[in-house]
Order: sequence, then C-alpha cells, then structure tokens
Amino acid sequence: MSASSGMYDKIFDAVIVGGGPAGVSCAVWLSRLGFAPVLVEAAGEPGGLCRSHSYMDEWNASLPGMTGTQVADNLAHSLHLADVPLRLSCRVDRIDADAQGFTVHVHGLDAQPLRGRSVVLASGVLPRGRAQFAGLAGVLVGPGAHVSDHDFHGKSVAVLGGGDNGFENALYVLDHGAKSVDLYARTVRAQRQFVQQLPRSAIHVGEYAVDGARRSVNGAKYDLLMVFYGWEPCADYAESLGLRRNAQGFIATDTQTAQTSHPGVYAIGEVAQRQHPCVVTALADGVTAAKAIQARLEAA
Ligand SMILES: Cc1cc2nc3c(=O)[nH]c(=O)nc-3n(C[C@H](O)[C@H](O)[C@H](O)COP(=O)(O)OP(=O)(O)OC[C@H]3O[C@@H](n4cnc5c(N)ncnc54)[C@H](O)[C@@H]3O)c2cc1C
Repeated sequence: MSASSGMYDKIFDAVIVGGGPAGVSCAVWLSRLGFAPVLVEAAGEPGGLCRSHSYMDEWNASLPGMTGTQVADNLAHSLHLADVPLRLSCRVDRIDADAQGFTVHVHGLDAQPLRGRSVVLASGVLPRGRAQFAGLAGVLVGPGAHVSDHDFHGKSVAVLGGGDNGFENALYVLDHGAKSVDLYARTVRAQRQFVQQLPRSAIHVGEYAVDGARRSVNGAKYDLLMVFYGWEPCADYAESLGLRRNAQGFIATDTQTAQTSHPGVYAIGEVAQRQHPCVVTALADGVTAAKAIQARLEAA
C-alpha cells in the first residue's frame, strides 16, 4: 500500500505486530468481521517461523501434505484474499499508549508510525543462546533453515539441550551423515519417542561445561555445536507498556480474551505461550484475540 492511500492518517482498529500464523489469523478474522486491521512484519514476506523451514508439517489435520514454506504461502494468500493492509520489511521498535489508543513506531523500509485502537503482539519467539554464542564459527543456535541447509557429513556434533528440539535435531544430524552425535542435557524433557530413538551412549545427562570458541563440551572437542536452549519471547519493543510476564518470561494474558495486563493490548501465539506452540494453536489464538477486539470495540 502506498503512503497516499491513507494508511498514515487512519486510526486502525488493530495494529498487529508479526505476520506468523497467529498474527495472520487475527488480521484475517478482524477483516472478515468488518474491522480495519493492519499487519506489520519485520521480514519481507508473511509466514513467520513456517517460512524458516521446508520440513513436512504433519501436525495440521486440515492441511495434510504441506511443507512449512507452503503453509507460509497459504498464510500470505489468506491475507491477500481478506484484503488486509500490510507493512512488510518493517520492524516495530516501540509502542506508546495514550488516551485515544496506541502509536506503533516502526523501523525499516517505511518508518511512518501507525495508530491503532488496539495492538496485538504476535511477534513469536527467538532461540535462547543467541547472545552467548554470537559470531562463533561452527555453532548453530536453534532449529530452522540454517540446520537443514548444513552439510553434516563426517562431522562430530555436540547437541546441547534436552527438549524435543535437541533430540529431534540430534536424530536429524545422525540421519544426515554425521560421524558421531553426543547430546548434553541438564535434564531430559523431550518426548519419549525421540529419546528412545537416540543411542543411550549418546545421551549425557547432568551439568556440563561448554566452551563455544573451542567447540568443546566437558573438554571433548567437536566439529560442530548445536544449541537448543529453548525459546524466549520477542517483545522488547513493548517494554514501554510494562506488560506483566508469566513465570517463564512470556507475556501474561487473560485465558478467555488474550488481553494482556494493559487494556487494548493483546498477545497471541508463541510470544504468550498460551497453549502448546504450533501452527494450529497460533491460528486459534488469533481468532480469540479478534473476537475479543470485536467485543471491546462494539461495546465502546
Ligand atoms: C524448524 C521448525 C519446524 C516447525 N514445524 C512445525 C510443524 O510442522 N507444525 C506446526 O504446527 N508447527 C511447527 N513449528 C512451530 C510453528 O512454526 C510455530 O509454533 C508458529 O509459527 C508460531 O506462530 P507465531 O505466529 O506465534 O510466531 P512466528 O511464526 O514466530 O511469527 C512471528 C512473526 O513476528 C515477526 N516479528 C517479530 N518481531 C517483530 C517486530 N518487532 N516487528 C515486526 N514483526 C516482528 C517475525 O518476523 C515473525 O514473522 C515449527 C517451528 C520450527 C522452528
């Protein structure tokens, strides 16, 4: 949409931050319910984490046989069909609240702020450990395309982390030609089906010492370290709103409405970890917020 189309004079019913499944679902529902949302996405295309991988998605009962990339393309298509205005390649860096609503400050291709009666945080998560291992050669942090694009042939690999991502990726690496894999975990939290597939001798449970620069764990050197320390919410831009967090640091929300501790601010999908994180629950969260915004605006 061009600057002349009125996007900047307008007060939107909702400014939605993040174009993954949660944000797209909320935007599409609001638009179909007759409201005026706008969606702001830091990347060049909508799709969120789905666009970061081309693995087959076997967990969406209504869309069998789709890869992550195809799910992302469908999300973009749904936005188009619902005529949702988009601000792509634009990162939200601050949100200010006032008596009329919210001003959402944006950094990127188009730096004009946006005004909204409500704001929806749908900005997902980032893998923990990025700062600790930043800039180190031979260290991969979190899952995604940088893992599926990597050549593991003949490499000795240490996987750090005892959750599903750690075990799934250890199995993936073994399947893709690695010479050896050792998984280090303070505790094991992964599904039994993954744990049982990895040779017992490859699993090291308990405290361990990592030297990222030397690529060593407990003194043993590896060709590659892979770090799966879980996820943290991507919501620094909302600091000024002083939102309440839950015990794990995710944005706390009301179960029924997805509203945060600040009236008119909603948080959905992985940034709030309201349900088991996946595409379907993110989509459902988008619906919850859209219906709550509808009720709030109609009551006003
Ligand atoms: C490798 C991998 C495989 C997966 N496979 C599956 C699967 O098969 N099935 C399944 O159901 N789930 C799968 N998932 C999980 C699923 O992708 C996520 O649960 C889902 O994408 C979460 O949706 P979301 O909308 O909450 O967040 P995200 O998809 O993370 O979207 C958040 C969006 O917000 C944007 N953003 C962040 N900060 C800002 C900002 N300041 N300004 C503007 N935009 C911002 C990001 O660029 C991103 O596009 C997988 C995840 C990974 C990593």
